[in-house]
Amino acid sequence: MSDVKEFEGEVIKIRRRIHAYPELSYKEYETARLVAQKLRTLRIAVRTGVGGTGVVGLLKGARDGKVVGLRADMDALPVTENVNVPFKSKRPGIMHACGHDTHVSMLLGAAMLLTKRRDELHGQVKFLFQPAEEAGGRGGAKPMIEDGAMNDPKVDYVFGLHISGTEPSKVFLLRPGPLLAAPDTFRIRICGKGGHGSTPHEAIDPVFVSAQVVTALQGVTSRMIDQREPFVVSVCSIHSGTKHNIIPDEALLEGTIRTFNEKTRTQAKKYVKQVAESVSRGFNAKAEVEFEADEYPVTANDATVTKKAISVLRKIRGTRTIEAKPIMGAEDFSRFLAKAPGAFYFLGTRNPRKGCVNTNHSSEFKVDEDVLKYGSLSLANLAYEFGKPNN
Ligand SMILES: [Zn+2]
Ligand SMILES: [Zn+2]
Repeated sequence: MSDVKEFEGEVIKIRRRIHAYPELSYKEYETARLVAQKLRTLRIAVRTGVGGTGVVGLLKGARDGKVVGLRADMDALPVTENVNVPFKSKRPGIMHACGHDTHVSMLLGAAMLLTKRRDELHGQVKFLFQPAEEAGGRGGAKPMIEDGAMNDPKVDYVFGLHISGTEPSKVFLLRPGPLLAAPDTFRIRICGKGGHGSTPHEAIDPVFVSAQVVTALQGVTSRMIDQREPFVVSVCSIHSGTKHNIIPDEALLEGTIRTFNEKTRTQAKKYVKQVAESVSRGFNAKAEVEFEADEYPVTANDATVTKKAISVLRKIRGTRTIEAKPIMGAEDFSRFLAKAPGAFYFLGTRNPRKGCVNTNHSSEFKVDEDVLKYGSLSLANLAYEFGKPNN
């Protein structure tokens, strides 16, 4: 597929267009419209409004084979862009800081490449343009799947690509087995009793109790969970109080737990609740611990598929493919992997020469656009190879 060059300009153009007009989770109306239009131009069958603003395209190859799903997420983040490029976000407070604009454009590039090869293409390719990856457990993968995105025809293999601001440009990274963690969001309400700052013994001070809880929770990591298991608990927000001499009634803590297997996950949630409740009780306060319902599982790549995917990626000239380490970040692509074997992989875009040095989610996140064609090519090649009937 050396004709990728001619697609490059268009892929970059699409990316810049989406970058300039970013849309937040479940509000990807213009992006979805652009995607549907482009797919229709390529004479790919399109279904819109899938699980919200999702778009599914189906390309039928001329030969028999398997159904390969390729997924791109479409949402942007509530960040004000701090990069001076001609296609800078025109929407203050919203930015494609996670690079999902590149995911959409790379997948459309793959659609262009595969359409051109329709006559020799085995099986079918399903393009899964997903809303709201950034919405955690309420992300777009679940409603898309419930809306039948993985059925009719049933997807045999599924792949997802994410760009990474921390990995070097033109490097693909993946691993068999668990790649990304399972996330669990928790909220702890510490209920005390308000009073005057000068007479704490007459009150139950939720600010003091919060401090004990935050500290004690790190003991779950160091003293309660097996040290050989990757595990993180972080309290990332505390809200309480109004004035320097008023002890407030309550404090609200929010945080995240990251784990790599269901046993540790269950244990971790139990211990976080237990420690928060018992430490609070020790100071006469009460902790109400809540976990967000319906969070998604670990993103676990299928071992056989990943091995083959690595050999497909290694054939792409101008790139390198290396084995990734497990990452404590999380992705609702895991829900697609729970429905069909497949792999999630990264493409590095860090390039100090071009000032592309900041991480995803930073207001200064900048992408080395030279990688986009390789992203398109990788998705197209995976679909092409895994579509063959002998897989
Ligand atoms: Zn993100
Ligand atoms: Zn992302």
